[in-house]
Amino acid sequence: MDKPIKKPRGKARLIEGKCIACGALCQSVCPTDAIEMNELGEPIFILSKCNGCAKCIKVCPSEALEMFFTPEELIILEEFNKKKAKALNELEEVDEGEKTAKQKIAAYKGVWVFVEQIAGVSAKVSWELLGVGKNLAKSLDVELAAIVIGYEVEKLCQEAFAYGAEKVYLLDAPIFKHYRTTPYLNSVCYLVEKYKPEILLMGATGLGRDLAGAVATKLSTGLTADCTGLSITENKHLLQTRPAFGGNIMASILCESYRPQMATVRPHVMPMPEYSPEKQGEIIRESFPIEEEAILAKVLEIYSDTNRAEYIDIAGADFIVSGGRGMGAKENFSILQELANEIGGVVGASRSAVDAGWMPVERQVGQTGKTVRPKVYIACGISGAIQHLVGIQDSDIIIAINRDKDAPIFQIAHYGIVGNVFDVVPAITNLIRELKKSQKKNA
Ligand code: FAD
Repeated sequence: MDKPIKKPRGKARLIEGKCIACGALCQSVCPTDAIEMNELGEPIFILSKCNGCAKCIKVCPSEALEMFFTPEELIILEEFNKKKAKALNELEEVDEGEKTAKQKIAAYKGVWVFVEQIAGVSAKVSWELLGVGKNLAKSLDVELAAIVIGYEVEKLCQEAFAYGAEKVYLLDAPIFKHYRTTPYLNSVCYLVEKYKPEILLMGATGLGRDLAGAVATKLSTGLTADCTGLSITENKHLLQTRPAFGGNIMASILCESYRPQMATVRPHVMPMPEYSPEKQGEIIRESFPIEEEAILAKVLEIYSDTNRAEYIDIAGADFIVSGGRGMGAKENFSILQELANEIGGVVGASRSAVDAGWMPVERQVGQTGKTVRPKVYIACGISGAIQHLVGIQDSDIIIAINRDKDAPIFQIAHYGIVGNVFDVVPAITNLIRELKKSQKKNA
């Protein structure tokens, strides 16, 4: 950085022949007593006392005084003025830059949701996003639109309208049959650059996470992953809320200077919007030229994890019986399965239970597992760490069974049972069986 230059102040002096002997006005304002008057009523300057304040010059009624500088001071003054002009220029450039950035941002309008699909089957999270997207669009007074990309997926447009989209941008071509990053990335970026939405939402699924990161990078914009809350600020920016530092705090994130503002949200975090099949909207059919040769990834065969017989999607279950480290061993989960069978539910697990190898990873509930929204969540031998609680906080009813009366899980549980899971769980299962039996008898 350049060394700052101190502006020389100079000294005041009389311009010969101009003084009108007004009555020592200059002397009266001098703060350093640097002016004496001669017998003609003209000022004599004591240069060693003058501090260059120029007060005398300002009050002189006949403009008879001026500032003067030594030759050295004149060189410094010239340098100073050059620097000042340069700084002013730079300031103007910054202002201009800010103005252009604001104009660019203002060109972006509307809320978009990427509709995820595999083999024409939509991911429920996309409809959940249309629900929250509708609220955002309403707050901004803009349009809510969906992007549908795939092959023979036009039927999804009507579904998108039924869940609240007013417009759908459709890219339907064989090249989009299976998800691959390159064609989807290029198509989404093409649509965004052409239509300029201010907000773009995607599901925080495997596909959504892959695509959203790539799109945000290519468009040089911000992306907040795994949001748990989305709203609009007074300044019309998207306020993105998500857990941070291991879930110990909630971070509020804004993307003020770039567009679109991008966020991903996990399945089941947002409620499903109303389904209105009669709703209609506009389909904008788009095409994006991309050659198969330009795509490095080729789909040879598809193995679906979800086709395994033991695969259970706990995220969509209404009743979940989850076990934690307190279950003690893999085989003890059978008592949870029995209870789950009685209530038509599924078995979930804490991360500790998954890490111990007692349950498969897709059953893990929590921050790094699934977010669930069941009607009833029964936590057995789970302490209630924050990372587990963020995944269950939207359950309608939480029942906790723990032998430690001070376990944190009891702070958020609607019903708590202090006791040993190996006594309590079988007792509840038996009670339900008895109730069912007596109901059958009475029927
Ligand atoms: P513990 O905390 O050990 O609790 C066991 C409980 O069982 C205790 O309260 C004990 O009183 C009770 N108990 C023991 N025996 C019995 C019995 N016989 N009868 C009744 N009660 C009994 N955790 C998750 O669950 N999901 C996540 O997604 C997740 N993500 C994480 C992400 C990060 C970045 C980090 C740092 C951690 C994450 N964790 C997650 C781990 C989390 O912090 C906890 O370590 C974990 O949830 C604890 O699991 P737990 O409650 O089963 O075990």
